[in-house]
Amino acid sequence: MPALEIIQIPCLSDNYCVLIHAPATGETAAIDAPAADTIKAALSRNNWRLTHILTTHHHNDHTGANMALKAYYGCQIWGPETEADRIPGLDVTVNEQSKLVFAGHPINVIATPGHTLGHIAYVLPDDKLAFTGDTLFALGCGRIFEGVPETMWRSLSKLAALPSDTTVYCGHEYTLSNGRFALSIEPENEALKMRMIEVERLRAAGLPTLPTTIAAELATNPFLRTNSPAIRARLGMESAEDWQVFAQLRALKNKA
Ligand code: ZN
Ligand code: FE
Repeated sequence: MPALEIIQIPCLSDNYCVLIHAPATGETAAIDAPAADTIKAALSRNNWRLTHILTTHHHNDHTGANMALKAYYGCQIWGPETEADRIPGLDVTVNEQSKLVFAGHPINVIATPGHTLGHIAYVLPDDKLAFTGDTLFALGCGRIFEGVPETMWRSLSKLAALPSDTTVYCGHEYTLSNGRFALSIEPENEALKMRMIEVERLRAAGLPTLPTTIAAELATNPFLRTNSPAIRARLGMESAEDWQVFAQLRALKNKA
C-alpha cells in the first residue's frame, strides 16, 4: 500500500481536523469536521476532494461542519453507532466489529467511552496511525463528560496497548497546559522535562505539538503512568488501583 499523505489543520480556537489522502485512489478523509471553511481551504490548496468524514464523537466542535462539507463534496460520513442520532449527516454507523477500509487501508474502531459514552478511536494498523479524538491527548486526556473515571481509564488503557511506534493524532492542541499539569505531578521525570522544552519552543513559534506517539505518551503522560511509584507516592496512593490513581489525577487536573 502506498503511504497516505497526512495534513493537520488547526480549526476554531484549539481543534484539529486531520486529512488523510490516498494518492493511489484520490480519496481523502477528514478525521472530525470542526470548521467547513478552514477545511475546504486546506483541501483546495492541495487539490484534494473530500470523500469521507470519520467522526470520533458527537460534540459540535467535531461535527459542526458535517452538513456543509457533505453538501459541498457529497462525502460519506462514518461515526459511532451509539451516537448516531447526535451526529449530523451520518451515513455509516461503526463499532468495534466493523471491517472498515479506506483506500485499501484497513481501519479498526476502538470503543473509548468516557469523554462521551459512544466515543471511538480510529486505528490504521498497517500504517501505525491512531486518531484518538478527545480521549487521549498529548500529555493529557479528555474530560469525563458522560462516563465515570473507571470507564475512561479502561479506554485509555486500550490506546496505551497499541504498538509503541504508533503515531497519534488528537482532537485538540492542549499540550502546553497538559504538560504544566504533568510537571506538577511528576517534576522529576527527565523525559517529561525534555519534552516540555520542545513543547514550549513549538508553541512559541505557533507550531503544532502533534502528532505524538504511544511511546512518548507512555513515558510522559501522567494519565498513562498510574503505576509510576513517583506519582503514587506524590498522591499518597501507593496501594490504590490504577483507575483510582487515574481518577485522582483527573480530579486534580479539573481543578488546575
Ligand atoms: Zn469533545
Ligand atoms: Fe473536542
